[in-house]
Amino acid sequence: MKPGAVNPGSVIRTRALTKRYGGLRAVDDIDLDVREGDVYGFLGANGSGKTTTVRMLLGLVLPTSGAVEVLGQPMPAARRTVLPQVGALVEGPGSYAHLSGRANLALLDASGPDRSPRSIRRTRIGEVLEQVGLDPADRRPTRAYSLGMRQRLGLAAALMRRPRLLVLDEPTNGLDPQGIQEIRLLLLRLNSLGTTIFLSSHLLAEIEQMCTRVGVLDRGRLVLQEQLDVLLRPTGLVAVRTADPSRCAVLLGDAVEVVEGDRLLVRADDPAALNAYLVGQGVRVAEVGPYRRDLEQVVLEAGSGERSDHQPLLRAVSRERSDHRPLRRAVP
Ligand code: ATP
Repeated sequence: MKPGAVNPGSVIRTRALTKRYGGLRAVDDIDLDVREGDVYGFLGANGSGKTTTVRMLLGLVLPTSGAVEVLGQPMPAARRTVLPQVGALVEGPGSYAHLSGRANLALLDASGPDRSPRSIRRTRIGEVLEQVGLDPADRRPTRAYSLGMRQRLGLAAALMRRPRLLVLDEPTNGLDPQGIQEIRLLLLRLNSLGTTIFLSSHLLAEIEQMCTRVGVLDRGRLVLQEQLDVLLRPTGLVAVRTADPSRCAVLLGDAVEVVEGDRLLVRADDPAALNAYLVGQGVRVAEVGPYRRDLEQVVLEAGSGERSDHQPLLRAVSRERSDHRPLRRAVP
């Protein structure tokens, strides 16, 4: 990627992007690739470098080395043409605490390049407030807002200019489950209307539920970047749940990859044929079907590549679910 090069297909691209703070490599040699129409989930534990990366994408922090292109233009050199097309919410929204949400958006709007008539801009403010679930008639100063309401107001500000690209750092911070669901649906709707979305999160479930593409940051390094459907595609294994796991394992021999409790993972092409065979042998089969990895397992494997101490990544990027137990190889 040459400085000044234009890359029309790509929405965000970085090459060997690095930010050092003294001896700390907060962001270490990362090549991001975000494409038109993506909902890109940037996943990483607290302190893994997500906010620093987002700040470099927006030209708020200068890289130590490497290059950034946003909407096909080099950053920060092209920030004057790029930033008006980007809506951003980074590290908690700021607002004037003594003004209402509406007045805050009006102030922001007045400082922007949009010179359309005031009545049109007022309507737009009402629209974005409604979109994010805030009452356009609410005159309370934002100091009375909850964290979740402030987060919504920040999102409303990011939406004001109908951006081509939304860059959101932990957008659901401070929201309750219903608020998270509303914001998720809003982002998916915006995406279906053509907005590319780049969002950072430390929540696996959030990324798994709404993203089309995933990047995983582990202590500054991009350890994984791929389409979600590729990561979660069938594994060629069939999961069998049975009250007779030992008998099942004996019958299937080397085809059995993993046994855990009442579940076996078996190398097989056809779950129905496997079921028929087991039932024919008198095995009580409770459940049978293609086995897919979930994002938690994918992240675990990505983190285990070159580092042996990958568990902190998985512990810190949380699923907000307690019922998951990773599969273990059967101990002979
Ligand atoms: P969080 O979710 O907690 O905000 P993060 O993934 O966004 O985490 P960053 O805020 O980018 O991570 O921080 C990455 C690392 O860089 C951390 O170790 C942090 O302490 C360090 N860091 C960030 N900004 C600075 C700075 N201005 N000076 C020194 N170190 C910094």
